[in-house]
Amino acid sequence: MIDPEATPAPRRALLSGWGRAAFTSCELIEVDAEHLAAAIKELPARGGIARGLGRSYGDPAQCAGGRVLRLVPSGDEITIDPAAGTATVGAGVSIDELLRVLVPRGWFVPVTPGTRYVTIGGAIASDIHGKNHHQTDTFGGSFGNHVVSLRLMLADGTLVEVGRGARKPAWAADVLAATDRGAAGPTAPPQGLFLVEVKYPDHIYISQPPP
Ligand SMILES: Cc1cc2nc3c(=O)[nH]c(=O)nc-3n(C[C@H](O)[C@H](O)[C@H](O)COP(=O)(O)OP(=O)(O)OC[C@H]3O[C@@H](n4cnc5c(N)ncnc54)[C@H](O)[C@@H]3O)c2cc1C
Repeated sequence: MIDPEATPAPRRALLSGWGRAAFTSCELIEVDAEHLAAAIKELPARGGIARGLGRSYGDPAQCAGGRVLRLVPSGDEITIDPAAGTATVGAGVSIDELLRVLVPRGWFVPVTPGTRYVTIGGAIASDIHGKNHHQTDTFGGSFGNHVVSLRLMLADGTLVEVGRGARKPAWAADVLAATDRGAAGPTAPPQGLFLVEVKYPDHIYISQPPP
């Protein structure tokens, strides 16, 4: 039984980005989705930041003197809807873990960076690109071009759905000012990534996925 109020204890850590250029000291806590709201409410005065797998070359997932929330999956956080061509995925899930579910079904993520060890949260936050970045058709663009919607946790732990165009940007400030969870509306189910089939031109002799 998960107690959402019971967050794991933070530990001291020296963190850097993938470039290993500028290590800084912080409190590191590994937290899953169920415990995230409680962990955010317990952030120290110095604040905190989300961290995925730390593959960013720079230092964007560090918080010197503050707390770093390393998002980890809590089990089954990948749901595929083959008919819609979408996947609903937890932010702490890596592209590696997602591909292990997708590829046997004949699917692939539309945008892949040079490593599969990045989280979905990190991929969205950095709006990562692949080799199809400048393609202007359905198969091109950056990661964000293929995200249907996402659920964003605000600083007060409120979860809001983003990406449907239903709210004006100032709405988030109004929700925070209200300090009332109800002001954010009902908790919406997330819709995940928009997936495309793996397709190769006929002259490339790679077998097509089964229909
Ligand atoms: C070998 C290698 C090859 C790469 N190739 C490419 C490439 O081809 N194209 C490309 O675009 N990038 C590439 N990258 C960079 C990498 O894809 C991005 O930096 C990506 O954001 C890293 O994801 P991460 O999970 O490791 O996030 P982190 O490095 O841990 O964090 C990156 C940013 O995302 C934020 N973040 C992470 N999780 C969340 C969350 N749940 N909610 C909110 N914010 C969050 C962090 O605060 C931080 O600002 C490469 C990196 C490596 C090491």
